[in-house]
Amino acid sequence: MTSRRDRISEKIMSRVQIDEVTGCYVWQGPTSGDTGRGRDYPRMSLDGQTVAVHIVMWTNEHGYVPGKKQLDHICRNRLCVRPDGPHLEMVTHRENMRRRDKARTSLISTKANYTGATELKHEETADRPLS
Ligand SMILES: [Zn+2]
Repeated sequence: MTSRRDRISEKIMSRVQIDEVTGCYVWQGPTSGDTGRGRDYPRMSLDGQTVAVHIVMWTNEHGYVPGKKQLDHICRNRLCVRPDGPHLEMVTHRENMRRRDKARTSLISTKANYTGATELKHEETADRPLS
């Protein structure tokens, strides 16, 4: 007898293509579309309800995701539904936001350093004694 869990995994895995390079389980089925919140995430129908596939995979493997926690794609592939690392990880909403901010901050500081270096160059040129 197959359990409900196995049936769900089978259903999902039949619509997944494994990326040999990254090991991602890339969802080939429908997504939540390209508008609104939570866009581009894999979606499927389960018991008449539309659910997020990566969350179903995670729940099958590790149990329910508590309300305050979210799943973060470490592999940065939103269509990936692989419930183990380094693909999906359960984080708090705060941690997820912090990571996003960190990614954004490093981008800004790179730009700032670049501008700073340019300014320094100008100063050096200006300080050079006139001959
Ligand atoms: Zn992945």
